[in-house]
Amino acid sequence: METSILIVDDDDTIRYLMKEFMETVGYQAETAAEAQEALRLLEERIFEVVVTDIMMPGMDGLELTEVIKERFDTEVIVMTGYSGDYSYEEAVDKGASDFVFKPVRFEELLLRIKRVLRERHLRKELQKLAITDGLTKLFNSRHFYNQLEMEVERTRRHDHPLSLLLMDIDHFKQYNDLYGHLEGDKVLAKLGKTVQYSLRRTDSAYRYGGEEFTIILPETTAKEAVPVAVRIKKQISARTFYPENGGAITITVSLGISQYQIGEKLSDFVKRADKAMFLSKQKGRNRITLLLEDEVPPDQNPIP
Ligand SMILES: [Mg+2]
Repeated sequence: METSILIVDDDDTIRYLMKEFMETVGYQAETAAEAQEALRLLEERIFEVVVTDIMMPGMDGLELTEVIKERFDTEVIVMTGYSGDYSYEEAVDKGASDFVFKPVRFEELLLRIKRVLRERHLRKELQKLAITDGLTKLFNSRHFYNQLEMEVERTRRHDHPLSLLLMDIDHFKQYNDLYGHLEGDKVLAKLGKTVQYSLRRTDSAYRYGGEEFTIILPETTAKEAVPVAVRIKKQISARTFYPENGGAITITVSLGISQYQIGEKLSDFVKRADKAMFLSKQKGRNRITLLLEDEVPPDQNPIP
């Protein structure tokens, strides 16, 4: 993917020359003559880096930097001809990644852009690692609670449905005891892929605990979550595992579904999904249970 750079300067010549230079070295470049125009462009498309002048009519470059860092996932490099008026510290304080003096030497700016892009890439890799479960490549449980909190907040604001699916592998301890933890890990890794493959675009899956998985389904009622659960359950039981010292083994999962009730605590929402999953276990495993309210008796709503 090509890197996009946005150049913001009230000087026509600088804009023109800088755009030409950026395109020569292989970047996509756009220009804006003032801050508002820059913000409009940022609303429309993604730019990895904004290079902005400080002294401009209207909103100045430092203010623009602050707004960009608040609203967009974009790096900012500020440039100024008045080295006495603005300090590097001030620019960094507003969220700028770097600072260059005017007249800008293009080769120097290019090196700074490359460094900023390198750091951005590294930071994104680290962010991804911090929320990913290494074995299943699904999100980890820390990320689960952050995302669920965000989704519950959104549900409260817009009064939209939100469902949660909790899934546990049946007799997984036995599998580990029989074939060893390495073979067990292979199952978890494959399951991660299977779950990911079975989701809709807006759903997100997490490794909740050892052999427990959760799936957050925004804009989804518990009833609408059922087909997703059915798909996952089918896909998993259709797979065959060949552990060392074992034959061809298939596994099953027990699932629980709950829908968020406005006003309830996040932990109660999770507990109900957990309880629904537990009911699936109780009813003989390899099934889906939907639990809309806490008081539903154990034999209600079982989906084989
Ligand atoms: Mg200027």
